[in-house]
Amino acid sequence: MTTTHLHYIDGQWQPAQSGATTPNRNPADPADLIGLAAAGDSADVAMAVAAATSAYPAWRNIPAPRRGEILFRAAQLLQARQDTLAEEMTREMGKVAHEARIDIQKAIDMLRLMAGEGRRLHGQTTPSELPDKHCMTVRTPLGVVACITPFNFPVAAPVWKIAPALVCGNTVVFKPAEDTPLMAQRLVEILAEAGLPNGVLNLVHGSGLAAGEPLASHPDVALVAFTGSCQTGRRINTLCAPTFKRVSLQLGGKNASIVLADADLDRAADCIVKAAFAQTGQICTATSRVVVDKRVHAALRDKLLARMAAVQPGRTMGPLVSKAAMQRVLQAIEQGQQEGATLLYGGRRETVAGTGKEPGWFVQPTLFDHVTPAMRLAQDELFGPVVGLMVADGFQDAMAMANGTAQGLSVAVHTRCINTVFAALEALEAGMVYVNLPSFGAEVPLPFGGTKASGNGQREGGTACLDTFSAWKTGYVDFSDRLQRAQLEA
Ligand code: NAD
Repeated sequence: MTTTHLHYIDGQWQPAQSGATTPNRNPADPADLIGLAAAGDSADVAMAVAAATSAYPAWRNIPAPRRGEILFRAAQLLQARQDTLAEEMTREMGKVAHEARIDIQKAIDMLRLMAGEGRRLHGQTTPSELPDKHCMTVRTPLGVVACITPFNFPVAAPVWKIAPALVCGNTVVFKPAEDTPLMAQRLVEILAEAGLPNGVLNLVHGSGLAAGEPLASHPDVALVAFTGSCQTGRRINTLCAPTFKRVSLQLGGKNASIVLADADLDRAADCIVKAAFAQTGQICTATSRVVVDKRVHAALRDKLLARMAAVQPGRTMGPLVSKAAMQRVLQAIEQGQQEGATLLYGGRRETVAGTGKEPGWFVQPTLFDHVTPAMRLAQDELFGPVVGLMVADGFQDAMAMANGTAQGLSVAVHTRCINTVFAALEALEAGMVYVNLPSFGAEVPLPFGGTKASGNGQREGGTACLDTFSAWKTGYVDFSDRLQRAQLEA
């Protein structure tokens, strides 16, 4: 069988130079082989970086509004194909139909926002200390940008990098997650069809070790824009350090939903069930800890349990992305029990038959009680449908418990008291705070990213992302026709 998910280098679809491939299988039905992805390595990466390097001078000289128009056309194409792509996404990585449509919608929204940036990309001007002199800043592109992305938002996560990179005038080498080569291929097909010149966007499939590392450490790459786990982020940061390469790290979270004693418990329970089990818990801002005031602990627990029967693997909840992911989650559940947490619901593999002998990689929605801060259930990002209740004694204790992790990505707080809302906004160590909402729901015009180990301070989304994908250049222009003395010169 020939390679079906090809690299895209300098406008040509091509197999890996080694000829190697990796099977792409449906996680709900492992017997369903979707295709064979080119297994890229350093030779393919070198070709892609060379293509992006030679396309860069012409691309950066195309006026930004015209670069933006290409992104706008890509948004229209994505929208026209949203249903077909969503079906393919479900088959490739498991998220259910409406979740797949949301993924694509987040990409459409970002393409539109960045298309508009083509007509803004604002700089600053400021009055000079001297007469007949202007002072200003302009944004300049960086060069070749490496975009290394995770499986869980196979269209949105790449677009959140590729769109700002392109509108700022950079060229791109895109290395998608091994689990989602088909979605990467579809996205690149659309951007090429929208009118990108050859070499401006290049796609190299492959594993993190074989393709990701050579890309991150390539000397001609100016920026590595990475989304993925803290562990991989640390490795990428190390690879970029020797050359002071710019790096944007969007990493994992261990996000809490805090339920205070005055909260609307029904609404809080609705939000938590959504935040914990949407996309099978495979969202960086998913809730995996519920910090609940002891006065409403029993009531909230019962409301959560009452809602969990509606979360049905194989119907309303998809599989985990791979066998390895399923095994990791099942092991964490086992360890949670050994550490003394109380398993209230779920906890096992769910057998949902596919077309072959092996069922899909489904795990039951799982709820633990009596999770304490030292347990791994309270500290490790499991990236699965597992949530633990942690009992707090009042507001301060709840804040301390929510803040008591290495990561600081997102947090939700449920309360009806306006003073508590603002006190929580100040106290919580997180990049994003959601009030009376699930712990996710990013809107594209606002900055997205985390504090502490959830990243390195860079932001995606909004105009904040432009600071990642461009460099400021400061211009001083003297039109006085003489050498003026600066302020402090005699
Ligand atoms: P991952 O870290 O395993 O892989 C992400 C990407 O990095 C993949 O393309 C992979 O091939 C590549 N990679 C792996 N090892 C590499 C290496 N040594 N050098 C270079 N590249 C390498 O993550 P994943 O399992 O695909 O995604 C899940 C993780 O992503 C979770 O931790 C989740 O929280 C995080 N995530 C974060 C955000 C955010 O915006 N903060 C958004 C989505 C996902």
